[in-house]
Amino acid sequence: KSSLPDVRERTLIAVKPDGVQRRLVGQIIHRFEQRGFKLVGLKMVQVSEDLLSQHYRELRAKPFYPSLHHYMTSGPVVVMVWEGPNVVQTSRKMVGHTNPTEAQAGTVRGDFSVHVSRNVVHASDSLEGAQREIQLWFQGKDLLNWECCNQGNMM
Ligand code: ADP
Ligand code: MG
Repeated sequence: KSSLPDVRERTLIAVKPDGVQRRLVGQIIHRFEQRGFKLVGLKMVQVSEDLLSQHYRELRAKPFYPSLHHYMTSGPVVVMVWEGPNVVQTSRKMVGHTNPTEAQAGTVRGDFSVHVSRNVVHASDSLEGAQREIQLWFQGKDLLNWECCNQGNMM
């Protein structure tokens, strides 16, 4: 029915190199699972310069871009696609403010980070951004549609 929420909304979440190195991958995945979102894609990637400059194309001219590049290529990232109603906006709330010193406790950045240049996680900031980033990081065949149980808020 047209009144049902669009559960097919998708976003790109990445655990950045500091999050991987600090063994935070499981805790971050847990938060998205616990909320009820559906994992439809997951991989570990050593990011290339080219991919990173496309991912952060709006930031290429910023003074911090060289250090951002160094940070994001300092080790593998775990990149994921999560699906569910309003997942783009909700993920941004779960991830918290870009600068961890302003992030609320209870958010990923608010709980695990104190510095903007080591802020643990990436989340797409809009529907359009999410679509662009998902296409950049994943091939369509690597995003899996699966159904389950129909219990509680599970989709
Ligand atoms: P977000 O990740 O919250 O969407 P932005 O898209 O504005 O934030 O920036 C992308 C990433 O660039 C941030 O997550 C952070 O790692 C880094 N960054 C942003 N601003 C700064 C800054 N002033 N100094 C250092 N790194 C920054
Ligand atoms: Mg951003």
